[in-house]
Amino acid sequence: MLNLAFIHHKIFIMKELKDCKSQIHSCSKCGLCQSVCPIYKETGNDCTVSRGHFIMLKELINGKLKMSKTINRYLDLCLKCSACSNFCPSGINIVEIISLAKAEYFKKHRAEKLYSFIQKFILLNIGLNFLNLFSSKNKSKTFEKKVVYFGGCSSKLEGNSHVVKLLNSLNVEVITPNFDCCGLPFYLRGDMNSFYEYMQKFYKIYDKYKDYEIVTTCASCEKALKMFAEQNKEKNLNIKNIFEYLKENNLSFELKGKCKKVTFHKPCNLNNYEDIKWLLENTKNLEYIEMKDYDKCCGLSGISNFKERKIMQNIFRNKYDNIKSTNANTVLTSCFGCQVALRLNSRFQYKVEDLTKFIARNIK
Ligand code: SF4
Ligand code: SF4
Repeated sequence: MLNLAFIHHKIFIMKELKDCKSQIHSCSKCGLCQSVCPIYKETGNDCTVSRGHFIMLKELINGKLKMSKTINRYLDLCLKCSACSNFCPSGINIVEIISLAKAEYFKKHRAEKLYSFIQKFILLNIGLNFLNLFSSKNKSKTFEKKVVYFGGCSSKLEGNSHVVKLLNSLNVEVITPNFDCCGLPFYLRGDMNSFYEYMQKFYKIYDKYKDYEIVTTCASCEKALKMFAEQNKEKNLNIKNIFEYLKENNLSFELKGKCKKVTFHKPCNLNNYEDIKWLLENTKNLEYIEMKDYDKCCGLSGISNFKERKIMQNIFRNKYDNIKSTNANTVLTSCFGCQVALRLNSRFQYKVEDLTKFIARNIK
């Protein structure tokens, strides 16, 4: 039976695990993924890395294995960090395959659905965009440029004023529509219906602003919006991470007060680290210390973070040591999920802040 979704008067055929058969078959079993997988390093178990995942999933598609709690545990353990995909000679998209495999489990298990329901309820109610009502006004009426800002869940909690202040200072007006969650957390947990619902909500609002570039500050939101664009090519979504936008327009800042020393954690979903590095190195009164393994996953993996606490804590310990060895007392990042993980594991030894918020708070 075809899995269909109706988005904006258009029917989409939702992909299923069996549609990834040829990708799964292209795994040569070379085992290179083992050398970069943070989970494999902790468990030493082939079932927790791409190669082992694909052996299991191949049998699942062929009907020789049945989806079980054990397979689901192996799927949940994957951080979806893409370290293996970036290294894989066959270029297999592990995040898509694991998410579609999770969808097979999700369909048949009420506990997963309940978790999604609670997550949606929380997202619906956090902040209720209260902060936006008071804080996202543009400062003047004459701007050279105009962009639309997609803030996702973090803007419900923290408002949009930092992005407005930052871009206004560079003569850019910011439109802040009432966008909802990007839906990526649901996609990664296999709740594809919810992911498509969020895509539908996005397009309903987006059509009013389709003449403008969309900028986002969150690496995960950017990934989700690019997936929306992939699904609906004729909409010509023009999505940019704010850092790409700043670099392209040669826009940088000067901070007030004493020179600040910071380091940066690269979220797994971020593709444009070079743009961020450019910004950090071109911001006056800021000293950027690149930490060792700045691009290694922070260990946040949704539900696994709570279920597999010990493994995740071990992964985080390396991140903690690398942050401490920079001697910077502030870690910046550009993903809401990473901020949460870095804060939970900071032991009050350093501050964690969103990069755009940090700059907006400190500009002259
Ligand atoms: S690196 Fe790629 S091709 Fe090699 S075993 Fe891992 S998933 Fe398969
Ligand atoms: S996405 Fe990350 S955690 Fe998952 S198998 Fe690949 S390297 Fe390991």
